[in-house]
Amino acid sequence: MIQRPRGTRDLLPPEARLWQAVEATAHEVFGSFGAEEIRTPIFEATELFVRSVGETTDIVHKEMYTFSDRKGRSLSLRPEGTAGVARAWIENRLEDRSHPLRLYYIGPMFRYERMQRGRYRQFAQIGLEILGADSPLADAELLLVLHEFLTRLGFQDLLVHLNNLGDPEDRPRYLEAIRTTLRPYRGDLCTDCRRRLDENPLRVLDCKVPRCQELAAAVPPVGEVASEASRRHVGEVEERLSALGIPFVRNPLLVRGLDYYLRTVFEVVSPELGTGAVLCGGGRYDRLIADLGGPAIPGTGFAIGEDRLVEVVPEHFRQQVLARPRLYLIPLGDAACGKVLELSRQLVRAGVPLELELGGRSLKAALRRADRDGFRAAAILGEAELGRGVVTVRNLGTGEQQQVDTSRLAAWWFDRIAEQH
Ligand code: AMP
Repeated sequence: MIQRPRGTRDLLPPEARLWQAVEATAHEVFGSFGAEEIRTPIFEATELFVRSVGETTDIVHKEMYTFSDRKGRSLSLRPEGTAGVARAWIENRLEDRSHPLRLYYIGPMFRYERMQRGRYRQFAQIGLEILGADSPLADAELLLVLHEFLTRLGFQDLLVHLNNLGDPEDRPRYLEAIRTTLRPYRGDLCTDCRRRLDENPLRVLDCKVPRCQELAAAVPPVGEVASEASRRHVGEVEERLSALGIPFVRNPLLVRGLDYYLRTVFEVVSPELGTGAVLCGGGRYDRLIADLGGPAIPGTGFAIGEDRLVEVVPEHFRQQVLARPRLYLIPLGDAACGKVLELSRQLVRAGVPLELELGGRSLKAALRRADRDGFRAAAILGEAELGRGVVTVRNLGTGEQQQVDTSRLAAWWFDRIAEQH
């Protein structure tokens, strides 16, 4: 028996319907704020991720699915979405368009993760990037869009964790501060962090090993060595969030696992779901496009983990999506089978969600099935009905049964069934 690869999943009905509904909400909310969808390839040149996400990050160093194609070119499955968007922006000369440009993506990402609950090797992200705006207003708008989206899904207790990573010029000073603080405890750090301390000390701060976290708490907040301009920038983002009533806290240990961030970085958590419930992460990346060989164009963006999001989406949204009422259309006999597709077409054109019985069940078996599968109503088309241009309809909630004109069937559905839910 062939099984799916570790860390991947099959999204089955009706769960897949939740994914559709979440994505439809993203299209709607992001679109309302003027964003447009971009679809970039699922694999890219490995070098793209090495140069953007960073060679010494865990993502690139340990987690990337990298392979050679038949011509020996090194390709990688994308571990995140921003690098591809940045590449596409440069390659397609999007600089010629009006800016700021708001681009969003929805799709699978790949990371060779250690197996743990809620982490997958293929997972999906919903991300939004605002390109061409360097003001704090852009960061605040980004967080507003995110907040609107999550609120639309029914989340009520969202908290933004925010930090200032400073400007790239501040980075060497900060890295030195981390090294100086942690060097005396080098032996207490995990093996990864000992390497990180040499290669990329920032990454020690988001290590998940408890002992490393304890030690990292002694590192001075990055804000202390950050430039005045970056402090003003993040301060202004906070002011705008306050004005909007979007709750946030400063989290000096928040550094995010990707090298391209500067100034504003953030995560959104839903505290009710426990500490691990990071729904989304993001930040500003003003040098990324220039680092990839493009012009100096600023950017800011977020990525939401869709798997996690669907898992914890509030019950009300879940119920609403899963409780979609449908009409069960039951033809009895050959003559009815000859007419029933035409009837399905009419009903679907009128907007009635339905399912047609194809298995040749007896009426009794069909009604039992309707009950089991949660249909709201059944429409029975037998020989007697055919002759008189009617169908027998049954409200499966009340057991009430009557005959209606075939041409009135859609109206009956909307008045008597759909309306009641
Ligand atoms: P990142 O790209 O690491 O900043 O992650 C952004 C969001 O994507 C996180 O908050 C997670 O919800 C989600 N995410 C990242 N990696 C995985 C994974 N391996 N499996 C499931 N979700 C993930």
